[in-house]
Amino acid sequence: MIELLKIKATRVLAFILVITLVQGGVTANSQSSLEAYTNIQEIDNPEDYLALCTKNHRFPQDYEPSDLRKIKGIEFLLRDKAAEAFEQMRDAMDAVGLNIEVFSAYRSYNTQQLLFHERVRRHGSAERAEMGTARAGHSEHQSGLAVDIRHIGAISNMSFQYTAHYQWLLQHAHEYGYILRYPIEYIHITGYMFEPWHWRYIGIEHATAMKSGEYTVFEHYWEDNFIETYEIEMPTELTESDVLKHFIPLFFMQAIPVLGGK
Ligand SMILES: [Zn+2]
Repeated sequence: MIELLKIKATRVLAFILVITLVQGGVTANSQSSLEAYTNIQEIDNPEDYLALCTKNHRFPQDYEPSDLRKIKGIEFLLRDKAAEAFEQMRDAMDAVGLNIEVFSAYRSYNTQQLLFHERVRRHGSAERAEMGTARAGHSEHQSGLAVDIRHIGAISNMSFQYTAHYQWLLQHAHEYGYILRYPIEYIHITGYMFEPWHWRYIGIEHATAMKSGEYTVFEHYWEDNFIETYEIEMPTELTESDVLKHFIPLFFMQAIPVLGGK
């Protein structure tokens, strides 16, 4: 009973913490006005390693990268250069005892559409699903340059942020051309919650320039003074379980099933 009460109290605390974080993101963004999925532009250079995919920049429905291949040893696909760089990065991590696994990489437009509908069903509304899942055409996974990573034996994706694996990636991913695409505290720029598991290939030159230029978020590197910022409106009547579907504090690791990436 005492254990149960402890769990309940911890849940309430986590919920308050999460709401505070989310509200912080919204108020920090009071000057902005862009709404997600309005004034959508089609990406005109989808094969470019710097192609920008957001809630307002989408891939053509029929876009499929021309050079997809399997990542060595697993069934997931990436574009050739991204796959090669990923394999080297994975080897470097293995060499220091940091073993990772991929749980998503390339996803076609149609796969994304299925995934999005599944999330809408699970969350009960599109509004809720969009907090963490892209609509078809708007997922970076369609680029074949994005990979979702977790440590072996992970129980939740969010817990990846607390691992040595994640710290290693923050230090070294740029050496292989990868960047953290949805960093914490940039929800008003990216339109997405913090995703410690989602890494995007942009090439060594640009990833290194981004790091040495102290750019945290790709949008700012892509265009200085990037003007598209979102007023993220949390759904009304947000429940604890809605939040927990996206935020999984460390102490919930044992209780929460593994989530798919977006
Ligand atoms: Zn992802």
